[in-house]
Amino acid sequence: MAVSVPAGLLAALASARHVVALTGSGISAESGVPTFRDAQTGLWAKFSPEQLATPEAFARDPELVWRWYRWRRDLVARAQPNAGHLALVELAALVPAFALVTQNVDGLHQRAGSRDVVEFHGNILVDRCSVACEGPGPARALPATTSIASTGDDELPRCTACGALLRPGVVWFGEAIPDAALIAAHRAVRECDVFISIGTSSLVFPAAGLASDARRAGAALIEINPSPTPLTAAADFVIEAPAGAALPAIVAALRR
Ligand code: NAD
Ligand code: ZN
Repeated sequence: MAVSVPAGLLAALASARHVVALTGSGISAESGVPTFRDAQTGLWAKFSPEQLATPEAFARDPELVWRWYRWRRDLVARAQPNAGHLALVELAALVPAFALVTQNVDGLHQRAGSRDVVEFHGNILVDRCSVACEGPGPARALPATTSIASTGDDELPRCTACGALLRPGVVWFGEAIPDAALIAAHRAVRECDVFISIGTSSLVFPAAGLASDARRAGAALIEINPSPTPLTAAADFVIEAPAGAALPAIVAALRR
């Protein structure tokens, strides 16, 4: 897909000192990792993310929640970074300072080669203790299963320090963002002069508030998303295209 990049967008990036990119699940859609909107297909169609990605859901039925996460883990493990992830690695090298904040839990930015990625919502490939004891955090990823048949609580992973159930190392709806990620994201946003929102619906807070924080700090706002979001009207530049087409086009134009 040929994407036209506004001259003003290129000028903003060419003169930027600090660039922050915030990514959401849309950037991984082209890697075959479904967004939440698209994720509830097939076996999982009858559950909403809110029924699976909350502390209450885990307390009620940890086995069901683990089955969903193992299925998603398997999907993520088989996915490959796409042209959008790779273009962000190149963009980082083209500007004086670059920070990447992601809401994604799939690790695809890191696998593409991005460094110092701020993981706002954790990482799906890591396990942690469900009662947050201070024990050593074992990262024992269990085999994935696509079956919805019950396996029983006995097979669920347990914390080697305290015996409580382990849980996926992601931030669930209603949970706090890890302090380190919050601090790193806020510091980056305070310093940025260009903020790029990529593949996120701008509906999930506090991540969705970073763009307005950046605007208050005087940054130009760029949005890359094939569909409009609550951020679209406030953005200085909008590229209504998939990230895998838009980001390589931006990088190519900056190189010219
Ligand atoms: P979302 O599902 O709410 O929104 C996805 C956005 O991506 C939509 O606005 C959609 O228009 C856009 N989009 C779809 N295809 C695109 C493409 N090819 N290029 C660019 N944009 C595209 O996702 P969200 O905003 O990230 O928020 C939902 C939460 O779900 C996040 O907290 C995230 O942690 C979690 N999540 C993560 C993953 C992952 O790690 N890959 C997958 C699903 C959900
Ligand atoms: Zn424990």
